[in-house]
Amino acid sequence: MRIRVGHLYPDYLNIYADRGNIAVLDRRAALRGHELVVEAVGVGDPLEPEAHDLLYVGGGQDREQLLIAPDLAGKGPAIRTAVEDGVAVLAVCGGYQLLGRGYRGRDGSFMPGAELFAHETVAGSTRMIGDVLLDCELEPGLRRPLAGFENHAGRTLLDDGAEPLGRVVHGFGNDGRSGFEGCRLGRAVGTYLHGPLLPRNPWLADWLLEQALGHATGEQPPTLAELPDELEREAFRVAAERARVRGGRRK
Ligand code: GLN
Repeated sequence: MRIRVGHLYPDYLNIYADRGNIAVLDRRAALRGHELVVEAVGVGDPLEPEAHDLLYVGGGQDREQLLIAPDLAGKGPAIRTAVEDGVAVLAVCGGYQLLGRGYRGRDGSFMPGAELFAHETVAGSTRMIGDVLLDCELEPGLRRPLAGFENHAGRTLLDDGAEPLGRVVHGFGNDGRSGFEGCRLGRAVGTYLHGPLLPRNPWLADWLLEQALGHATGEQPPTLAELPDELEREAFRVAAERARVRGGRRK
């Protein structure tokens, strides 16, 4: 199968090697005989809700976010329709913030968001920096861990009823208080975790590929064949241990 990926603003939202997430999706798709076709979607480019099976938005600093926020907000209706129709999404940090209602910076300026996730972000006076370990349950009864690295001034508050991506085991998470990290809506996932995220969390890479394949085929998401993942398991183990020893402490 061809898996069509729309990579939003790759020239602006690309800190902490977040592009590496695409490399992992590409490789893990190829190892199962699928082809990832990645299209860059920039400022002024049209976004058709049915054009992709997976949308990806990486992280960026406030300065870069400011440059793309109005355009991303304009793409909000297409992104919301895409997710309603079963398109998968991975959004990291700056991209995650701007898929909510918006982000209020330290200077009081408000960046509008795409209004996909039911959350709002306000910049605080301190940054939340460190390794993170999460406990996720994307499928009822199936709990899986995620490890990564966070560095954000933004505090993201989920609306009542919004589903977090996971519970914080070690680290700050969305706001350093709630014990929640990220947001999940259908096949869309947003998170503060960089690293990049997917090399050390291959189960999430496969989950996203399965959801994207579900959209591409119009059928139930398939179950991809297992891969050896020895290095990936070791990378996860090291990251999870770092989070335990020196992850941020919630209030
Ligand atoms: N500028 C945002 C913040 O500091 C996002 C930073 C990032 O993507 N790492 O909250």
